[in-house]
Amino acid sequence: MAARNAPTDAAAPAPAAAAPAAPKLSAPARALQKLGLDSPIALALHLPLRYEDETRLTAVRDARPGETVQVEGHIQHCKVELRPRRQLVATLEDNAGDELVLRFVNFYPSHQKTLAAGQRVRVRGELRSGFWGREMVHPTFKAVQDDAPLADALTPVYPAAAQLPQTYLRKAVAAGLSRAALHEVLPPGTVPKGLPPLREALNFLHHPPPGTPLSTLEDHSHPAWQRLKFEELLAQQLSQMQSRRERARLAAPRLVARSGALRDQLLATLPWGLTGAQQRVVDEITADLAGGQPMHRLLQGDVGAGKTVVAALAACVAIDAGWQCALMAPTEILAEQHFAKLLQWLQPLGVKVAWLTGSRKGKARREALAQLASGEAALAVGTHAVIQDDVQFARLGLAVVDEQHRFGVAQRLALRRKLQGAEEADGAPGPALEPHLLMMSATPIPRTLAMTYYADLEVSTIDELPPGRTPIVTKVFAESRREEVIARIRDEVAKGRQVYWVCPLIEESEAEATPDSGGGGWGGKPLSELSNATETHQTLSEALPGVQVGLIHGRLPPAEKAAVMGAFSAGQTAVLVATTVIEVGVDVPNASLMVIEHAERFGLAQLHQLRGRVGRGAVASVCVLLFSTPLSETGKQRLKAMAETTDGFEIARRDLEIRGPGEFMGARQSGDALLRFADLAQDGALLAQARTLAPQLLDRHTAAASAQVARWLGAKAEFLKA
Ligand code: ADP
Ligand code: MG
Repeated sequence: MAARNAPTDAAAPAPAAAAPAAPKLSAPARALQKLGLDSPIALALHLPLRYEDETRLTAVRDARPGETVQVEGHIQHCKVELRPRRQLVATLEDNAGDELVLRFVNFYPSHQKTLAAGQRVRVRGELRSGFWGREMVHPTFKAVQDDAPLADALTPVYPAAAQLPQTYLRKAVAAGLSRAALHEVLPPGTVPKGLPPLREALNFLHHPPPGTPLSTLEDHSHPAWQRLKFEELLAQQLSQMQSRRERARLAAPRLVARSGALRDQLLATLPWGLTGAQQRVVDEITADLAGGQPMHRLLQGDVGAGKTVVAALAACVAIDAGWQCALMAPTEILAEQHFAKLLQWLQPLGVKVAWLTGSRKGKARREALAQLASGEAALAVGTHAVIQDDVQFARLGLAVVDEQHRFGVAQRLALRRKLQGAEEADGAPGPALEPHLLMMSATPIPRTLAMTYYADLEVSTIDELPPGRTPIVTKVFAESRREEVIARIRDEVAKGRQVYWVCPLIEESEAEATPDSGGGGWGGKPLSELSNATETHQTLSEALPGVQVGLIHGRLPPAEKAAVMGAFSAGQTAVLVATTVIEVGVDVPNASLMVIEHAERFGLAQLHQLRGRVGRGAVASVCVLLFSTPLSETGKQRLKAMAETTDGFEIARRDLEIRGPGEFMGARQSGDALLRFADLAQDGALLAQARTLAPQLLDRHTAAASAQVARWLGAKAEFLKA
């Protein structure tokens, strides 16, 4: 677990920064660095996962089985027993004269020394009622003098890593906490009532005094926790509102839709009309484009809701007004598909479309660049290659980012720079014009939350699917029912339908599949146990004689990827074995069956995206989630959620719920929701307070506002604007 948005601490530069590649760091020091715990503030914000109570002693007779307690007493005897297996057994008698058996299956000579008869020891562990009376298995223990003082605070247990013992980490955190600059930057009276000062909150969370109820610490509802969450939410709100205000001062081209022009022509050629929801968002976008200020709008809509055509219509408005549009997709496969679709829609209307991806090089690329620089091509479609430095637009008026949450930090920053630089290429005198920005995403977070949280975005929502769709039926099967599933594939293919089979990994080092970041994890299994797409391709080809089975994965050269995808789109292959490269956007309406292997390893948002590859036409579709045991509790809940609903908003809500407090939102699911302490599902009230306070600070306490943003976001503030 890396401290992803560890605040910066200008007053105390990170030791790691002073000595970048210090050769002789100890293993624990290296582990600290790896976790990003390289400055006093980062250490101070490394909060305990849980606590151990070493502040009191429990009498053996008062302890209940199952309870973890600390007991002190004298060792009566200690010996190695050989049955039922070799173990060290010591008997302790506490002051009240009650006995407790201590049992160690793994032990060293040092155990016997400390636990020798007559020694006084303090032990801590879970009490069990064993056959021979009360006992503890593998308790922690230490020799003590009579009347040795007890801990004066609960003992923190920190998120750690290999090579990083708790004792080392505790010392490092305590040192960081005492050195970190934690003075209050918020003016008196602005912090919500009942929340302690920051330093007090952190001192408390690292060393809660005896008697603190653990439940409020563990569920993060304690005021000290609330203070941290508030700090973080406030910084996010400040930073976003700040950039909203900056943008409000900028001018953008007025792109006014004319009736009978390109947009209406495109609508007339479509075989279907827009849904009410599509019409509404098109109107919202059109109004922004005409407003003279740069649009910054997020278009949310469930998978299959029909966002692409909305983007195309927005592009039409821009092009019609004499400006260019760039459409960016996160993968080559999706970019290619968008290119094909937009070409089909717009070329007949006389629009020249250029295509740019990382793999398109040489003459083809030079031609595309020349067409964009001259303005001959009105629309550029591609991957992030569209925003590379050598790509110059004559008059970029609108940028559309599809599956926005899938773009990384660096790419968003590059886009932002590109947009800011756009008018310079224009060279025209007068006020600089910023292009409009439309981001599209399949509901990373529920709508009301999105509207409150994204202080810097307008949000449009398509909350209706095109008519005629049959809801996807989702089935959750154990891996052992694979044969049945293969038989089902045979049936679908016989009916002329197509099938996706998604495997999590192709080879050991495959980087594109992501273990779910929301718990469950890899279950400790070695990677060699993971499904292997190549192998699955082989097995399915053998099990389905006469059926064309394709294989697509991230390691294929782009041209081959395109060929495989093209064959599937055209119906030449009936079954497509794939890694998560097909996760987003891919649109083959004839596909009616989606099989996801090791479904328990995927995050909920990812499963929903994958499932969205079927059910895109009128055909009734099925999604089969194959899982392997043992299934973690969160894994179980995710599969249940998938089986119970196909509504993306509900999925997003459940996703937040299942993750629960303390779990970071996966970077993939929500690139900008870089919240470390706050949890949007639970902290709506704090978010609202932060949202109210932020503009007041920006208006009346500018210095405090900047200090707050700098402390919590540092370099990340730039990113949040992107
Ligand atoms: P997403 O919102 O997931 O990007 P797409 O834009 O890929 O969805 O649209 C999914 C499918 O629905 C496409 O095949 C598209 O052509 C079709 N579609 C979009 N809008 C409508 C509509 N109003 N009526 C019927 N089909 C539509
Ligand atoms: Mg899409």
